This record gives sequence, C-alpha cells and structure tokens, in this order.
Amino acid sequence: MESYITLSFLNDFIFCPRSIYFHQLYGGFAEAVYKQTPQYKGTAAHETIDEQTYSTSAHILQGMEVFSEQYNICGKIDIFDIKTGRLTERKRAIKTIYDGYVFQVYAQCFALREMGYAVSEIVIHDLVHNKNYPILLPEQDEKMFTKFQQLIEDIDSFDMETTAFTPEKAKCTTCIYNQLCDASLC
Ligand code: SF4
Repeated sequence: MESYITLSFLNDFIFCPRSIYFHQLYGGFAEAVYKQTPQYKGTAAHETIDEQTYSTSAHILQGMEVFSEQYNICGKIDIFDIKTGRLTERKRAIKTIYDGYVFQVYAQCFALREMGYAVSEIVIHDLVHNKNYPILLPEQDEKMFTKFQQLIEDIDSFDMETTAFTPEKAKCTTCIYNQLCDASLC
C-alpha cells in the first residue's frame, strides 16, 4: 500500500472509506475488471490531458505530476496556466460540484504552490456543457478548507480493522467494489 494519498482517494474516501482499500488493490491493473461505463467516460475526458496534447504553449502545464509534501498527496494536475495563475480541472459532465471535486483542486493548488507556482484562480470545467464553475481558493473559503484538512486527517487515521464503520446500502448498491467487499450490503 502506498504511504501517500492520491488525488482520487479524496473522492473515494468521501464515498466510502473502505473503497480506498479496494482502489489500492485494483487501481494499478485490470481496470476493465471493475470500471463501469461512466468512469470510462470520465477517464476519456482526461486522455487528451494525460497525453499532453491540449496545448504546446510553454506557459501551459498539462497533465503534470504534482506532490504536496505538506498534505502528502500526489497526482496529476489537469491544466495550469503559469501566466494567469489559473488552475483548471476538466470533468466530462457536472451535475453538482461535489466536495470531493473541490478537495481535489485544493490538493492540486497546494502542490503547485509548494513547487513555486502562483495559483490565483481555480475553475472546474464541464466539457459536455462547456461551462466553467469558479472555485474559491482555499484561503478564501474557511469552511471548505477546514473540511479538506479534516478529510486528510480522517484518511491518515483510517484503519480497515479498527476504525468504526457502518456501510450504507444505497452506496453499496452503486459501489463498483460490492462484489469484492465483505461489508457490502448488496
Ligand atoms: S461495497 Fe459498500 S462498504 Fe464496501 S466499499 Fe463499497 S460502499 Fe463501501
């Protein structure tokens, strides 16, 4: 198991802390075994970025690996414009801005700042509807920043064996790991 937190853990942990274990177990191989169609669509939205074909401009960083030592989080940013300080995270289609979306861009923001870049604006972009959702910077939103810090603490302290946990049937029903999880209520 990795000792660091990956960006995708933030969303997964909010959905269900136990899913982190399965994500770590199956995250590195045979994705077709457990990934369902909506997730593939989400992955496809990032393919252009991961292949670094979005822009050839030197001031645009794309698909770059980042690491925050302070929060022990690693992952890839989507797009960062060095000139404007705008960090953009693209999603295929957005129904609502979930906390997990915000925490992921916070982590990217902190990592970029640790690397010396000045992040002054964050946007989450809906590709299907071509719509931008501005996100307040962590220092501008105390409530969300506190929730972010609490999430990191919760992830760091979670133990599959000892941490109290109550599964929720509604989540287990839609969980991609329900065939593998011994706590599943399905
Ligand atoms: S099956 Fe239920 S308890 Fe298990 S990881 Fe999924 S949501 Fe959590």
